Amino acid sequence: MSDSELKKILTRDPAEKEFHQAVQEVIETIKPVLDHHPEYRQLGVLERITEPERVILFRVPWMDDGRNVRVNRGYQVEMSSALGPFKGALRFHPSVNLGILKFLAFEQTLKNALTTLPMGGAQGGSDFEPKGKSDDEVMRFCQSFMAELSHHIGQDTDIPDGGLGVGAREIGYMFGMYKKQRNEFSGVLTGKGLQWGGSYMRPQATGYGVVYFAAEMLAARNETFEGKTCLVSGSGNVAQHTAEKIIELGGNVIALSDSSGFIYDPEGIDRKKLDFVKRLKNLKRGRIKEYIDKYSETTYTESDTSLDHNPFWSMKADCAFPCAMENEIGENDAYNLINNGIKLVCEGADMPSSPEALKIFMDKKILFAPGKAANAGGVAVSGLEMAQNRMLLNWSAEEVDHRLKTIMKNIHQNCLHVADRYGLPGNYLAGANIAGFVRVVDATLDQGLI
Ligand code: NDP
Repeated sequence: MSDSELKKILTRDPAEKEFHQAVQEVIETIKPVLDHHPEYRQLGVLERITEPERVILFRVPWMDDGRNVRVNRGYQVEMSSALGPFKGALRFHPSVNLGILKFLAFEQTLKNALTTLPMGGAQGGSDFEPKGKSDDEVMRFCQSFMAELSHHIGQDTDIPDGGLGVGAREIGYMFGMYKKQRNEFSGVLTGKGLQWGGSYMRPQATGYGVVYFAAEMLAARNETFEGKTCLVSGSGNVAQHTAEKIIELGGNVIALSDSSGFIYDPEGIDRKKLDFVKRLKNLKRGRIKEYIDKYSETTYTESDTSLDHNPFWSMKADCAFPCAMENEIGENDAYNLINNGIKLVCEGADMPSSPEALKIFMDKKILFAPGKAANAGGVAVSGLEMAQNRMLLNWSAEEVDHRLKTIMKNIHQNCLHVADRYGLPGNYLAGANIAGFVRVVDATLDQGLI
């Protein structure tokens, strides 16, 4: 792609910086493919796959507990249905805007392609902040959000999933409203409760998948998790299950965080301590700071955005698992990780490494896994949830876990294989971007100019 083609894509929506970042990262790594396939350029594939098929934007009015009217903005970005019905997470967070959802939908399209399951790419959500709201407020918001979204989604067209700020509680409220609006009990959402259409292992799938992927990376170098110290940022769904699987495989998780700060436990967070974190975050909806009240040998450090680095990434460890937010690892953080001898960085979150950090990891040849490959286990099990819904049956937890492991192993192999084929051995970033891109583009071209 020429600079002018890229410029055209980027200048169309100048304020969408996260979307630009995601597109630029992919374009830089797929250059060898574009050189190999001049027809891709002639057929305008990049312009086609970076422009959403459809974007829905809507008003979400709801009433808080003080009977005040609140109005949030709802979105659904339907990026690509080349490989199957639109599929991607919903995100409820005050930072949500169109650019963030377009970046997530673009990443999701390539991620879903890597799973090889028949799923297109999408992403939706709202600038609603569930933190600090009562259950009743969250329910009223979810119902209002779904009252509109239900007109646009369906089990054959668009199947949203849980995501950041959208857990089992939110999915439950939205599923209830969809059913009422459409008079239809269908597999329209994934991440559902086990008793009403959910799949075993969906809550665990993203985090477990991240660690299965990292274990494959280590195994390719004849190493294991045994005795390795690990930093896991965040303390939500992905972080909890990443930590859980690392502990099970013999690794030592020494830190977790939330948006207010982080805890450091020099003795390591064992299974019992992690259960405390799960209860704290999932049931009490508390703050990670409360960990130090229970475990006194630990420290808590408040977030400080005035610093030019995040002290979380300055701690000495063998492996880093960013599992919270986009761009949480900046340039100085990447240097700090490397100076402290980090061996592996495996992304649980979507795009947690800034472009500067990515460049440093690549230049220093750190064992690095991009989120679109490493965290694909969540959407993969959501794909398996859709399959089970269609068949009106439930696979056992063991069966789903076995399938998840196989999918993560295959994604790992595919990334390595494709990177090798394009003369970039061991480069998982290029392998993932190229493998996902080719699959989406070939399907897009097969289906004509639509
Ligand atoms: P959750 O809402 O369950 O948890 C997010 C966690 O990140 C919370 O602990 C939150 O803290 C913390 N956090 C948010 N901002 C910051 C920050 N600036 N610094 C430190 N911690 C922060 O979300 P998920 O675990 O589901 O998602 C995490 C990431 O993984 C996102 O990037 C998401 O897109 C990605 N992902 C999730 C999948 C899934 O299946 N859930 C699948 C694939 C990707 P606080 O409580 O203070 O808000």
